[in-house]
Amino acid sequence: MKAALLKTPKQPLRIEDVSKPHPATDQVLLRVRACGVCRTDLHITEGELPVRKEPLIPGHQIVGIVEEGEINDLPRGARVGVSWIGGIDGTCPYCRRGLENLCDSLTFTGYTVDGGYAEYALARHDFVFPLPPDLDDLHAAPLLCAGIIGFRSLRVAGIERGDKVGLFGFGASAHLAIAVLHSWNCEVYVSTRGSSHRELAESLGAKWVGTEADKPPVELDRAVTFAPSGDVVVAALSSLRKGGIVAINAIHLDRMPEFDYDRLLWGERQIRSVANMTRADARDFLEIAAAIRLQPKATAFSLAQANDALAAVKHDAIDGAAVIVP
Ligand SMILES: [Zn+2]
Ligand SMILES: [Zn+2]
Repeated sequence: MKAALLKTPKQPLRIEDVSKPHPATDQVLLRVRACGVCRTDLHITEGELPVRKEPLIPGHQIVGIVEEGEINDLPRGARVGVSWIGGIDGTCPYCRRGLENLCDSLTFTGYTVDGGYAEYALARHDFVFPLPPDLDDLHAAPLLCAGIIGFRSLRVAGIERGDKVGLFGFGASAHLAIAVLHSWNCEVYVSTRGSSHRELAESLGAKWVGTEADKPPVELDRAVTFAPSGDVVVAALSSLRKGGIVAINAIHLDRMPEFDYDRLLWGERQIRSVANMTRADARDFLEIAAAIRLQPKATAFSLAQANDALAAVKHDAIDGAAVIVP
């Protein structure tokens, strides 16, 4: 099969012929129909995350068709999605508490095991998700990480129907989250760098849109930050009412600046991080996505253009998501 291989971090991916993998007894072999490109893929290919497998096929937003290793619940020909979490141990203290997103030995698709920048990919039977039939491959792929983790951020922020919610940053995750928020009758306030992101937020019905330096005109009940910047977290915090929560949707922050406790955190305001996702997040989000007919913006790239797709994400050159269609 053809695959895009990361051989050395910071070097371009190499498109090569490799042997097609064989499923173990707990796995299916998927024929990849589409694989979304996530900002985390950049952290991996650019060496900001330590190397865990070499060479590696990146990609963790896989839409695929079951071709081998089928079981009753997963017949041959079924269309399923695979996300960032490819497996858990099921035995560590976190798994036993039902906190599988915090498992001590997570398997990460396209990081600790090969992912979906290829014609075929393996996935565990218990870590694939049925996809809404109305959504084509190109538009289903971006839901599988950006969408699910964005949805988890809304949960971690404790958002309730009708809340005033701030989204700080407006990339792949936020442009999906805003549709879920509108379905909950929330008012959405967007602060973001980049005029194209502000235009997108306006076109998707944000109540107010400003630059990263602007403060939303109301006190927010809840906020989610998407930029890898501690200054943005403090900006979000300073916009919250008492009892409000900021959820940080970023694996990595540049730093956490000093801030005034008495003014910004006192009053039972909270800052929470968002780590990974659970299978329940995935199933619940995909159900909502189907119900509200969520249609992400997506741009297709061929497997041979995998490096171009990564560059497009890196430079915010496209609105919405980049998707590799092998
Ligand atoms: Zn575990
Ligand atoms: Zn991702």
